Amino acid sequence: MNFTGIYKTLSEGQSEGRLIVVTGPSGVGKGTLLQKLLERYPDRILFSISATTRLPRTGEEHGREYFFWSRAEFEQKRDDGEFLEWAEYAGNLYGTPRQAIDQAIALGRIVLLEIELAGARQVAQSFPSAKRIFIAPPSMLVLESRLRDRSTDSDEQIVKRLHHAELEIAAASEFDITIVNDDLEIALQQLESAMFD
Ligand code: ADP
Ligand code: 5GP
Repeated sequence: MNFTGIYKTLSEGQSEGRLIVVTGPSGVGKGTLLQKLLERYPDRILFSISATTRLPRTGEEHGREYFFWSRAEFEQKRDDGEFLEWAEYAGNLYGTPRQAIDQAIALGRIVLLEIELAGARQVAQSFPSAKRIFIAPPSMLVLESRLRDRSTDSDEQIVKRLHHAELEIAAASEFDITIVNDDLEIALQQLESAMFD
């Protein structure tokens, strides 16, 4: 995704800060949906840039898709309490840096977190008012073919991601709303309504 700086900024003058969590299995289309939403609302949506210990994929840049930190660097910041939430996923650490989120909420921005299940559960504890949206695939077969067609992950990673997917889909009822990403345009409309209602 093409994010510039720490956040894509939201419109000025919004009075009430809001945190929205988007969760769903790897390959379900979260990034595709959120990128389209950002294109539609470049001045309204603020997208948090996470940190991760995984290696950048081709085309990904430090500070744009993620902050790519070493495990030692990540663990130090985690131990210093710098993350709003963090989790280990498919052999790597991922986390939401806390500082910029706090600032953005205080400024009345709508902040979007795209994170996996364990992180979403932590946010439910620390920000009970956050809206939590689950993106589900039409089927596991479709999910697998999206992961394979994306050609960004090794077979080993795909197996890990599909394993997580089953756990995540089983937890969908914990979320405020589930959107099935079958037809992209319909899913986008549903996501839009869920975000702005
Ligand atoms: P995620 O961010 O959830 O890991 P991506 O946004 O990278 O998933 O999408 C995974 C793959 O599925 C991409 O190749 C994307 O183009 C494709 N994709 C996303 N949404 C749809 C859809 N509704 N129908 C068909 N393919 C889709
Ligand atoms: P990927 O390696 O495909 O970019 O991401 C793998 C998983 O990590 C996805 O489910 C994504 O939502 C999740 N993820 C990305 N950033 C964060 C984060 O900051 N915290 C948590 N808990 N999960 C994240």
